[in-house]
Amino acid sequence: MVEPQRRGEPVPEDIGTDDCLTSYTHIYSPDLLKDQVAFITGGGSGIGLRIAEIFMRHGCDTVIASRNLDRLKEAAQKLSAASGRRCIPLCLDVRQPESIAAAVDETLRELGRLDILINNAAGNFLCPADSLSFNGFKTVIEIDTMGTFNTSKVVYEKWFKNHGGNIVNISATLGYRGQGLQVHAGTAKAANDAMTRHLAVEWGPSGVRVNSVAPGPISGTEGFRRLGGLSREADAEFQSIPLQRAGNKTEMAHCTLFLASKASSYVTGSILVADGGSWMTSANDISVLLGIASSKSAKL
Ligand code: NAP
Repeated sequence: MVEPQRRGEPVPEDIGTDDCLTSYTHIYSPDLLKDQVAFITGGGSGIGLRIAEIFMRHGCDTVIASRNLDRLKEAAQKLSAASGRRCIPLCLDVRQPESIAAAVDETLRELGRLDILINNAAGNFLCPADSLSFNGFKTVIEIDTMGTFNTSKVVYEKWFKNHGGNIVNISATLGYRGQGLQVHAGTAKAANDAMTRHLAVEWGPSGVRVNSVAPGPISGTEGFRRLGGLSREADAEFQSIPLQRAGNKTEMAHCTLFLASKASSYVTGSILVADGGSWMTSANDISVLLGIASSKSAKL
């Protein structure tokens, strides 16, 4: 998929599927992460996969970790072929600390170090609060918030505490204005933004920086497709946001690369909102959102 060209800077290359880029133009030095190791939860799909690819194109080896090992293996092969770097697929559930501990041990055995943790794994669906089950709400908090804490704590105890490191949490802007149909994810990500600052305060003296990227609507992702994707209605919606387009996965990877690298060496406890200004001006009309949700309900 080629992004439409508009006024302003050129938009970096991206493709809409979970495949690697067919061409890539470096913005940062290609050596920016040379010989570092990044552990990326949810790195087998969507934004996480593109973060893995862009990091590897900057000299980094990666571990991509989530529940679906078959999908991770396929992604790891593509990522290594595109970048020439190592990518190890590992099975874990961020709700289970022992599965995280086993994956981090395996990372250190195989790659000998760990420099960057990207907490990207998350649950993803639209649902009005009055239809959301107690269990549905709890599950999103367990994956998004507790999963971020679990993974950060395991990585800190096993490596970052004694060696320093960089954590980037992938957040969202949903809670800023109480986005309709997203009480579960908005609440979870708001807690994560607080966690970013708490852990930045506590772990800074150990040489650990903790920051977040908060994406807006990002093309080529499951979340974006569920919100109407590139339909004409969605295109009209984008006219109301300052940069008048969806973001792409490569743009999110570039923001994450900035925070995970020495380019941001004096930044910690920050949340980089990367949404084209969307949260300030986009519609939050519950009746319109309910219409979108019911037209997509077969997929939820
Ligand atoms: P995605 O492709 O659905 O990615 C979510 C990933 O999380 C999947 O790879 C999934 O892999 C993994 N995951 C889910 N539950 C897990 C668990 N219990 N343990 C371990 N891994 C788990 O979605 P995405 O759109 O790229 O989202 C990536 C991040 O960006 C999320 O944090 C999301 O909230 C954030 N975000 C996205 C958008 C957007 O427009 N797409 C906007 C704002 C924020 P398995 O199924 O293999 O476990």
